[in-house]
Amino acid sequence: MKYYILFGPPGAGKGTHAGALVKKYNLLHISTGELLRAEIAAGTELGKKAQELITAGSLVPDSVVEGMIESTFENNKDVNGFLLDGFPRTLAQAEDLDKMLAKKGDEVTAVVSLMIPDEVIHERIAHRAAIEGRADDANEETINNRIRTYHEKTEPLIGFYKAQDKYHEVNSVCTIEEVEDRLVAKLDEF
Ligand code: ADP
Repeated sequence: MKYYILFGPPGAGKGTHAGALVKKYNLLHISTGELLRAEIAAGTELGKKAQELITAGSLVPDSVVEGMIESTFENNKDVNGFLLDGFPRTLAQAEDLDKMLAKKGDEVTAVVSLMIPDEVIHERIAHRAAIEGRADDANEETINNRIRTYHEKTEPLIGFYKAQDKYHEVNSVCTIEEVEDRLVAKLDEF
């Protein structure tokens, strides 16, 4: 099984590129953001708890997303692997993912990071807000909090995966096709 992590700040284009990549490599796309939005839409207890945190631009507890990830791994054995999008987002999640995979004799295959500067993040999220209508895209304070949360809690994962020699960067400030080509060239290496 391949375990690819698509990494990058909010608005970097992870969701946009995931679709083409999973098709090309027969992977399952796991977006924790999408799974959480599905819980909210279904009105579950988990969704109700998550909603407040998400609309504040904060993270939901590690145990919640880890549970969703683990059950998705267990319920999908007929794919070549997984493309993780939005997970792991904290050092604790990255360490727990390593443990989860080690139990199965597996490990993270590669981490590919979509690189964009903070100014471009703002532009892209504003554009997405108009199209997708996500509550956490509509409010400037929430967007700023998400970017801050990314720098504080998620960016330290770069060092974590560099130390494992698994971290790779792709410049994401160009056309969708160009980013796609660069991502494919990277994934082809592993
Ligand atoms: P974006 O693409 O803007 O980064 P996501 O759709 O990945 O947004 O996530 C939306 C929100 O869901 C996050 O801001 C966070 O509140 C919550 N979330 C998603 N994944 C995680 C995670 N791995 N750990 C904690 N919270 C998460």
